[in-house]
Amino acid sequence: MSDHHAKKQLGQHFLHDAAIIDRIVRAIDPRPGERIVEIGPGQGALTIPLLRRHGALTVIEFDRDLLPGLARIDAESGALEVVNADVLTVDFTQLARGSRMRLVGNLPYNISSPILFHALDHAGAIADMHFMLQKEVVDRMAAEPGSKVYGRLSVMLQAFAQVTPLFDVPPGAFRPPPKVDSAVVRVVPRAPGSIGVHDARLFAEVVKAAFSQRRKTLRNALAPLADADTLRACGVDPGARAEDVAVPRFVALGNALAQRRS
Ligand code: SAM
Repeated sequence: MSDHHAKKQLGQHFLHDAAIIDRIVRAIDPRPGERIVEIGPGQGALTIPLLRRHGALTVIEFDRDLLPGLARIDAESGALEVVNADVLTVDFTQLARGSRMRLVGNLPYNISSPILFHALDHAGAIADMHFMLQKEVVDRMAAEPGSKVYGRLSVMLQAFAQVTPLFDVPPGAFRPPPKVDSAVVRVVPRAPGSIGVHDARLFAEVVKAAFSQRRKTLRNALAPLADADTLRACGVDPGARAEDVAVPRFVALGNALAQRRS
């Protein structure tokens, strides 16, 4: 497979560092009977060790040129299901086949946020996710209020999932090396009963508006959605900026507005 020319537009950076690959597989720690789905198997850097360890795997790969290599892996293992599709069009709930699957992958960085949001849209079908992402994205996902990188991605992810950065990966672990540092992150969707958000669409709207102009106070940034009294009633200081407001306060605010609309 080394004759495959990496396609930049598909975010193709193939892992070749055996120690890193082993660390990722150990972090995933597949257990018998689990349904594991890999996004972007590429040339099989993670696929082959996962198959060896787990015995069966479903992979979603967009690039047709990589299908012959995946077919060879399947012929050798006999337990690889290949879905040739753009992952953003895949119905994860259907793919989970009534159970909760585990999603893994060294993701194409150019669409990593859309993949995360697509997965959260199907959170009920996903037990957990282990993804290699741009380190800067992992930092934003896990950021706490007051941090420079705390923003929309932090609030949206943390409201619906538990985010745990696991370890960093240098560019040299990939061929070709990306221009950025990478990191592996574990994302565990919150159990449906423990998600406090009542109206996901309205919540997303509030968070987007709050962070749309980071320097504005919330009173101004949220003016079309919530007045100062509503903010105060939800424990949010109208003079504060979005970057200082904790996730549960955003949840309370979204819910107060949802209640008012219903
Ligand atoms: N897992 C391999 C590895 O670690 O060496 C490849 C990882 S590479 C960073 C990302 C992979 O995602 C590539 O195989 C690429 O073709 C695939 N990919 C890119 N866009 C995709 C999409 N929209 N849907 C499914 N796969 C995609």
